[in-house]
Parts: sequence; structure tokens; C-alpha cells
Amino acid sequence: MLIETLSTFPNMYDSVMGTSIMKRAQDKGALQFRAYDLRDWTHDRHRTTDDDPYGGGHGLVMKCEPIFEAYEAITRDAALPKPTTVFLSPCGRSFDDALATELSQSERLLFVCGHYEGIDERAYALADVTVSLGDYVLTSGELASMVVIDAVVRKIPGVLGAELGAVEESFAGGLLEYPQYTRPASFRGSCVPDVLLSGNHAAIARWRREQSLARTAQLRPDLLRCADLDEADRRFLRN
Ligand code: SAM
Repeated sequence: MLIETLSTFPNMYDSVMGTSIMKRAQDKGALQFRAYDLRDWTHDRHRTTDDDPYGGGHGLVMKCEPIFEAYEAITRDAALPKPTTVFLSPCGRSFDDALATELSQSERLLFVCGHYEGIDERAYALADVTVSLGDYVLTSGELASMVVIDAVVRKIPGVLGAELGAVEESFAGGLLEYPQYTRPASFRGSCVPDVLLSGNHAAIARWRREQSLARTAQLRPDLLRCADLDEADRRFLRN
């Protein structure tokens, strides 16, 4: 997969994309990453990417001309597939696991990140999808895009060491994940559930499933409506 970002602070990606699983994905050849500086498509001495809002008000709005010019230059190479272009905005579609899965199926993603008061509305004509991380306002889209990129890249086959890593995680199958433990078996009087030490894999699988169901019912009952449940799950939830 090729992931590209267009923003005014491309160096913000250095640490996240150069660390841990994001770095490994690139080292393995599963991911190519390029961060473009929007200022490279400005034409004035100050490399201006923003201006006062029409109609008055505080703050600055990102101009649409450099965004269009950058988009046209980035997508010019006919040898590459046309990207799925993702704008980040609090006014977008709420980001979730289903959208991460959808985006992970694209061969090429281009993220366009806002700053200041946001982006001139006319630039959204380039968006295939506009994504919001949630009902709050961040300073810039770089941070939001990094969250989306991280969630998407973990879904590319072969990126996670254990293939099952992403399959058993929260939201896969519509449930929250069961509680996890590691050594020591007893810590300050708090013990790991006996079943996890039993070596009985069927009992462990059953316990994990029930913990997922109970935790989801308690913390996110809304998820149960669309979860993948069988009769045994329903019986457990009724009790
Ligand atoms: N004035 C805008 C509004 O009220 O909707 C907020 C602009 S925000 C300060 C600057 C940029 O941060 C946005 O253009 C967007 O790219 C990004 N951003 C902020 N909050 C976000 C969120 N919840 N989800 C995705 N992107 C967000």
C-alpha cells in the first residue's frame, strides 16, 4: 500500500512513521509512506497556505489553490493507481473499525490535513471520504491522520507479526476484547484467573468469549446489536 499525506507540518510524521509497527511495515515492503509539504505548491516569498476567512471571524483558513495544485502533481503519475483521498475534519464520518477495514482495501491513500480554522470548502471536492476522529477539535489533521494510518496499516496482511493479532482484537466480530494478563501470576494479591493457567484451550476460549460478551454488554451494549453472536452467546447474555 502507498500512503501519502499533504500538510503544512510533514515533519510531524517522522516519529510515528519511523517507529514500531509503522516502521516494520515499511521495512517489510508492505507500506510505502510519503509526507508532502503543502508549502511546496505555493508561489509567494512567504510560502503562504492560509488567508483570512471571507465574512470575517477569527483565525485563518487554508487556501484551496495549493491543495488543488498539490493534488494534481501528486496524482499525475499514470503508472500509480488513483488514490482514495481522505480529508480529516470534525465534520466528517466518524472513524471506526469498519472504515479502517474499508480504507485498508485501497492500494493508495492520500490524506489531506487541515490546520488553523480548517480548509476552504471548495477543496473538499477532491475528497473521496472525510473522516472525523470524534466529537472534539484537534489543532491539526496530521495527528488525526496518524491515528487513521495506524489503524489501517495494522490491517494490511502480514504487517502484524501474529496474523491473528488483528482478528481477535476489539471490534473484530463486533465485541470488545477479553481481559489480557501476563507474568507474574500473582501481583500484590491480585491473581490471574485460574482458567488461563489451566492449559485447557477449549475452556480458555470459552472464558475469553464470555468475558468479551460480558464486557461488551457492560461497557458498549450498543455494539451487541450488530455483533456476530451464536445461540451459546445469546444464552450467556440472557443469564
Ligand atoms: N474550525 C474547524 C471546526 O470547527 O470544524 C476545526 C479546525 S481544526 C482547529 C484544524 C484541523 O484539525 C481540521 O481542519 C482537521 O484537519 C483537524 N481536526 C480537528 N479535529 C478533528 C477531528 N475531530 N477529526 C479529524 N480531524 C480533525
